[in-house]
Amino acid sequence: MTTKRPTITLVLGDITEQHSDVLVNAANSSLLGGGGVDGAIHRRGGPEILAACRALRGSHYGKGLPTGQAVATTAGRLHAQHVVHTVGPVWSRTQDRSALLASCYRESLRVASELGARTVAFPAISTGVYGWPLDDGARIAVRTVREAALPPITEVRFVLFDEEAYAHFDRALTA
Ligand code: ADP
Repeated sequence: MTTKRPTITLVLGDITEQHSDVLVNAANSSLLGGGGVDGAIHRRGGPEILAACRALRGSHYGKGLPTGQAVATTAGRLHAQHVVHTVGPVWSRTQDRSALLASCYRESLRVASELGARTVAFPAISTGVYGWPLDDGARIAVRTVREAALPPITEVRFVLFDEEAYAHFDRALTA
C-alpha cells in the first residue's frame, strides 16, 4: 500500500499569523532566540516557547541543537499545537551543505508526524541571515517535502515572506 503524499501549498505572508498544527521555526543552535523567523515566533508566541527551549538546553541539548535536527515545543500563543525548531546550515561557497538543509525539512516532518500533525507550515529555512540562495533553497525544500510521505500529515505549506521568495518556490513547485 502506498501512503498518500501531502499537498504542498504556497502562501505569501508571515508564518506567525498562520493557523497550522505545526509551525516550523528557522532557529539557531542555541535555541535561545535570534532574528528573522526565530525572533518573530518568540515575540508573537510569548515567553512559554523560550522557557521550553531553555528546558531543552538544560536536558537533551546542553550543547545546543545540532544543524539539520528538529525538536518540538509548545506553540505558546501562536495558532498552532506545536512549534518545531530546526537549525538550518549556514550557506557555504566551498562546501556542499545541501544534505543538512534537506535534513531540516525531513526531520521537522518526522517530528510533526510523530506529534500527530496534519498540517505543517515551513519558512524558507536558511535563506535569510544564513545566506542560502533562494533558488537552490526552494528546490531543496520542495524536493525533500515531495519525497516525504508521513501520515497523518496531509498539507505542507511554505510561508514566504516576500514576492521574490514566493516566486522561487512557485518555480520549484512547477518545475
Ligand atoms: P535563517 O537564519 O535560517 O536564514 P531567517 O529567519 O533569517 O532564517 O530567514 C529565513 C527566511 O524566512 C528568509 O527567507 C526570511 O525572509 C524569511 N522570514 C523572515 N521573517 C519571517 C516571518 N515572520 N515569516 C515568514 N518568513 C520569514
